[in-house]
Amino acid sequence: MSNQKRVLVVDDSMVMRAMISDILTKGGYQVVGQAKNGKEAVEQYTKLNPDLVTMDIIMPGEHGTDVVKKIVEVDKDARIIIVSGLNQKSLVMQALDNGARDFLVKPFENAELLEAAHKTAR
Ligand SMILES: [Mg+2]
Repeated sequence: MSNQKRVLVVDDSMVMRAMISDILTKGGYQVVGQAKNGKEAVEQYTKLNPDLVTMDIIMPGEHGTDVVKKIVEVDKDARIIIVSGLNQKSLVMQALDNGARDFLVKPFENAELLEAAHKTAR
């Protein structure tokens, strides 16, 4: 049995998903799933029950803010870190209000992501 924390990475950008996954994997996490939109994110969350989620804000279809709400409806103990761009402060606030636990603003340092992950994962 592995005691690695299991992570779901949600971002519409394949490059960002790969980057976040790489940082987390090198930091000792196990990336168990990736999703490129809200629908996939909720499906993957329900299937995988991860210890941590990283959530992009701006995606085609639903914004990350709404996806956070849906995931927290499924699991009120969900541990979600918002990954936002610059100038998305009101969306970040909304996501925190919807149940996200922490946030990062792109571009971020690897250490910032890992620190947020250590603090937030269950
Ligand atoms: Mg995006």
